[in-house]
Parts: sequence; C-alpha cells; structure tokens
Amino acid sequence: MAQFAVILGAGESGVGSAILAKKQGFEVLVSDAGKVKEKYRDVLLKNEIKFEEEKHSEDLILEADLVIKSPGIPDHAPLVKALHVKGITVISEIEFAGRYCKAKTICITGSNGKTTTTMLTYHLLKNAGLNVGLAGNVGHSFAWQVANENFDYYVIELSSFQLDGMFEFKVDVAVLLNITPDHLDRYEYNFQNYIDSKFRITQNQTENDFFIYWAEDPVIQREIDKRSIPATCLPFSLTELKGDGAGLKGDQLVINREQNSFNMSIFDIALQGQHNTYNSMAAGLAGMVLNIRNEKIRESLSNFQGVEHRLEHFLKVHGIAFVNDSKATNVNSTWYALESINKPIVWIVGGVDKGNDYESLKGLVKEKVKAIVCLGLDNKKIIDAFSDVIPDILETHDMKDAVRSAYYLAKNGETVLLSPACASFDLFDNYEDRGRQFKMAVREL
Ligand code: ADP
Repeated sequence: MAQFAVILGAGESGVGSAILAKKQGFEVLVSDAGKVKEKYRDVLLKNEIKFEEEKHSEDLILEADLVIKSPGIPDHAPLVKALHVKGITVISEIEFAGRYCKAKTICITGSNGKTTTTMLTYHLLKNAGLNVGLAGNVGHSFAWQVANENFDYYVIELSSFQLDGMFEFKVDVAVLLNITPDHLDRYEYNFQNYIDSKFRITQNQTENDFFIYWAEDPVIQREIDKRSIPATCLPFSLTELKGDGAGLKGDQLVINREQNSFNMSIFDIALQGQHNTYNSMAAGLAGMVLNIRNEKIRESLSNFQGVEHRLEHFLKVHGIAFVNDSKATNVNSTWYALESINKPIVWIVGGVDKGNDYESLKGLVKEKVKAIVCLGLDNKKIIDAFSDVIPDILETHDMKDAVRSAYYLAKNGETVLLSPACASFDLFDNYEDRGRQFKMAVREL
C-alpha cells in the first residue's frame, strides 16, 4: 500500500513537496489552516492532488506515515505537538526533497545576508556554466525542482526554521554568514537554541565536505571551539589570511585554497559595503571549492546586479542618491547600511520594533546621519534613542510624506537611505511593498 504523506501549508514549499511526493508514489493530502492562494490551488487541481483549506482534519492527519511541514508553522502549534506525541516523523521540504536529490548542494544560512549571498553564489556558478538551480527561501521550491528538473548543483538559502526540520540531509558546501539573536520567540527565548539550529547546517557533513564561515563572529568562533566539525573549514574575515580561506590584504580581497590563490581589488566588487565584502568572500570561497576559474569568479563578483530591497542604489534626483534597504528589518543590517555610505545621510527609519536596542547604532548615526525621518505608527523609541545626537527628527506616517520630507532635508551629493531596522506590518503588507512604495515615491519627486 502507498505511504500516506501529509503536507502542512500550501505555499511554495508545500505545493512543491506535494508534487514530488505524488511523483514518488505517496498518497498525498495538503492541508492549510488558511486560504490557499489561487496560483497554488490551480497547481494542486491540475496535478490532481487532494487538499483542504481553512482547516486541518486532525484525525486524518494523525494517520500520516510522514508529515512535511512548512517552515512558517512553529513546532509549538497544537497539531505539530500532537504529531510528535504520536511519533509521526515531521520534516521540512528540504529534508524531504534531499532524499531524492543527487545534485551537489551549496547551502547558505546566517541571521543576515542569506538572500544576497545565495543570489551571488548562484550567479557565480551559473556564470561559470554549471547546470545549477536556485532554491530555499528564494526562487522555485526545491522539491518542485527535484521533481521536474535535472540540475547538477543547487544553491539553497536555508532559514533556521528550515534547518529545524532537517535531520539526515547532508550539505556539501555549507556557508554560515553570521549569528545574531533573531526569531527568539520560536526558540523559547533561548539564544543557544537558535545557535544550535544554525549549526545544523554542519550536521552529517564529512571530511569530504566544506564549511565556510565568518571567523570574526564571536558566536560562531565560540561554537566552533566547542564542536568538532569534520568538514574542511574555510574562514573568511577582514584581516590578513593565515591559511586557506578569504581575507583582506590592503585593498585586495584574497582567497586561498590549496595551491590556488585569488585576488581582486575591493573597489571592483559590485556589492559595496563591509557586509557585502563578507558576502562576496563567502560566495568566492564556494566558487573556489567548486574549482571555478579565478577569472570567472572575478567577473561574477564584479558584474553582479544586486538584489532588490537590499541596499539597492535606486535613483539620483537632483544629485541626491536614494537607497532602498527595505529588507533591513533589524538593527544589525541597518548598522551595515549606515557603515557602507560615505556621504551625509537622511535616514528613513521605523516600523514594527522587534525589541530593538538602538545603542549600537548611535556612533554611526552621530558620525553620518544629518537628519532622521521616522516612518511608523509609533516612533517614540527612535526619537528617545536619537534626540540627543540628532537635532532634526521628523515623524511621518506614510511613504510619500517620508520621501518628500527626506528630499527637502537632503542636499546635492547627499544620500537618502531607507533602512528601517524594523518590520513593516504597521503601514505596509511586507518589506517588498514598503520598498516598492519607496521607489514609487522617489519616481514621483
Ligand atoms: P536575509 O536573507 O538573511 O534576510 P538579505 O540578503 O535579504 O538577508 O539582507 C537583509 C539585510 O541585511 C539587508 O538590509 C542587507 O543589506 C543586510 N545584509 C546583507 N548581508 C549582510 C551581512 N553579511 N551582515 C549583516 N547584514 C547584511
């Protein structure tokens, strides 16, 4: 008799998993507590996959041989708890698809920079002519691609939630960019649980695999000292290199691995700013490990177009540069945005505060920011944090008003930076909506 697979959540990963499960001969039910989006409903109907929406038929679901859970559903959801009590295996889409995937995987995680580094690494592999797919939080579902494509390599962006549902999946080339506290509500407010989740990227690795990581990150350093990682470890940092890995020598980005040495001027790298130097090092190291030629790595790091809403240099209006960093939803990513700009900044900031501590931004704000435009329903915390260093702080409640105010405050040669350090849900659908509204308002100036 066919095994019964239940897929919880009918989004990109759920629908992809359903298609792969059906192809592999499972009896399949997709169950979503919310409404299923039309585009996914159409795919399910066309593929004759059973699904239910706005409910979970618990009795039926508890009959499953295997459950594939969307990363959006927390482990403490009552249904997931009931599955665990019954001893039913609950895994993520990546774990499931990994069972049927023979390709080499390059997986990227971290608290910040995942999407940028994933896209850059994908660009690098594709530009080198490899037969490569892009998956995880970006692009098409991994499971869908495993069912329908025949790639030799995958570059996969992994969130901690995806990693939590991974048990036997082995990553060939793992990249860990950084670890700062995030999503602690899903980790019992225990930072170590979140750190352990990130380090799952190294589980099952052997001495034939690679672990690329940021050596200056104190959390990562501490963990590496505690653990024994069998993979070849390749650190990257802004200091001078000692062994294999990536580092800086003056203005040169240097990557060494075994006999091969790569270098290029940091001014030739497409993505500017310190955080992007790290991301470029990580992608370059992944390229070296896959034996991509130095010229190709150099070319790809210098012609990458960047990713929308991440420090996106959008337009200049009357000599004023407008930068869209709407994806900066925490203090850490905003720190790097401020750090990367060397002109006086009018900073648009605010939204839903996830427990921000603005102290770490104060030095940079004092040095670089000439005026602050708050954009949020409740701006009190920002005003309290910066009123002693910045005399000009305005409050606005919609994007047009924020952009126009910033435009009047900025002068020729200066930069207006949207880097909110906050989530967007008070005034926008999501960060993409916020970024698009920013660009629209800039166009209308
Ligand atoms: P993620 O997918 O991890 O959320 P993104 O690439 O979407 O990361 O970038 C999110 C935000 O973090 C952007 O504002 C971006 O400029 C910033 N950022 C990118 N790389 C890094 C990094 N290595 N360290 C810190 N912040 C970064």
